[in-house]
Amino acid sequence: MKLIFLIGLLTQALFADSLDRRVEQLHDVIISIDTHNDFAMNYAFPGMETTVAKGQVSFELMKEGRLDGAFFAAYQAQGPCTEEGHVQAKFLADSMLLSLHRYAAEHEHLGAVAYSVEDVMALKAQRKAAMLLSIENAYCMGEDISLVEHYYNLGVRMVGLTHNGDNCIADAATDTTRTHGGLSPFGRQVIEEMNRLGMIVDVSHASREACLQSVEWSKTPIMASHSGVYALKPIPRNLTDKEIIAIAEKDGLIQISIGRYFLSTLPRAEVGIPHLIEHINYVVDLVGIDHVGIGSDFDGGGGIVGVEDMGKMKAITRALLEEGYSPREIGKLWGDNVLRLLEAARKYAESF
Ligand SMILES: [Zn+2]
Repeated sequence: MKLIFLIGLLTQALFADSLDRRVEQLHDVIISIDTHNDFAMNYAFPGMETTVAKGQVSFELMKEGRLDGAFFAAYQAQGPCTEEGHVQAKFLADSMLLSLHRYAAEHEHLGAVAYSVEDVMALKAQRKAAMLLSIENAYCMGEDISLVEHYYNLGVRMVGLTHNGDNCIADAATDTTRTHGGLSPFGRQVIEEMNRLGMIVDVSHASREACLQSVEWSKTPIMASHSGVYALKPIPRNLTDKEIIAIAEKDGLIQISIGRYFLSTLPRAEVGIPHLIEHINYVVDLVGIDHVGIGSDFDGGGGIVGVEDMGKMKAITRALLEEGYSPREIGKLWGDNVLRLLEAARKYAESF
C-alpha cells in the first residue's frame, strides 16, 4: 500500500516536472504580451495616493514570468472637459510617457520601448522585455486633433478612448450621462487619425454604443485591452455577446483582465486561475481563439490567487495546457493575436 502511494507521488512529481518543462519550452518559442497595466502613474508620480496594489509590474518580473511584452498605459482619471482640465490631463499623460521612456533607458539591459512587431521580435531574440506604450483615456487629447500624432510620436501604439466618465471623444461604460450617444464627431475624427497613423483603438472603459460604433468606424481591428465577459459577470465594464461578436467579426480582440472585479463576485481570496480560464473559454466558444488574450490590469487593480504579479504569468500557460489548449492556440492567445492587430494597424497606415 505504502509502495503504491510512493509510486503515485513520484508519478505526480514527474508529471508536474514535465508540465513545467513544457511551459518553459513553449515560452521559448511563443510571444507573450499583456495588453494593459497601470505601472506608469505610480512610477511618474510616486507620492500619489492609491487604493490598489502596486509593484506587480517590472522588467524583472516580466523575465521571471516569461512575459515578452506588455502595453504600459499612461492613464488619467476623467476630470472636467474644460481647457484647464485638458491641459492638466495632457501634462499627466506626457509626464507618464516620458517616465516610461526613462524607465526603459535605465533598464536597457532588461528591455526597451517597442514600436512595431519587428521590435517585439528583435527584443525577444535578445531575451529582453518589450515595452509597448498606450494611453488609457484620450481625455489628454482634449479637442485638439494634432495631439493624436503628438502621442504617436511619443511611441503610443494603442489608445483607450475613455476611462470612467464621458470625455470629448466618447461615452464611458461607467459614470456616464450618455453625452454623445456613443462616439462624438470629434471622437470619429480621432479614430480616423489613429487609423492614418497606425494606432490600435482600445474600447475597454467605453460605453456599449461607443464600442459598437468604434468597431464600425475604425478601418482596422479594435481591441478591448482589459475587460471580461458580461454573461459571466454582469457589470458595465464587461462585454456583452453582441460586443464580443461585433469586435471579432472585424478581426478584433477581447483581452481578459486578471482581476476579481472583472471575473467573479466571490471574495478576492477565492478568485483564481479557474475563473480567468472560464472567461477565456467563453470567448473562445463564442468567437474562437483568434479573438482572445490577456490584459492584466496589474498596478491598477489586477491580480488573482496564483497570478499575483507579472512574475506568475507562466501559471496561466500551465493552466491552458491542462485545459487542453494546443501550443499553437496558446501562442495565438498569448501574443500572435496582438501582433496581428499591431501589424494590421501599421499596414493600413502605410497605405496613405
Ligand atoms: Zn482600466
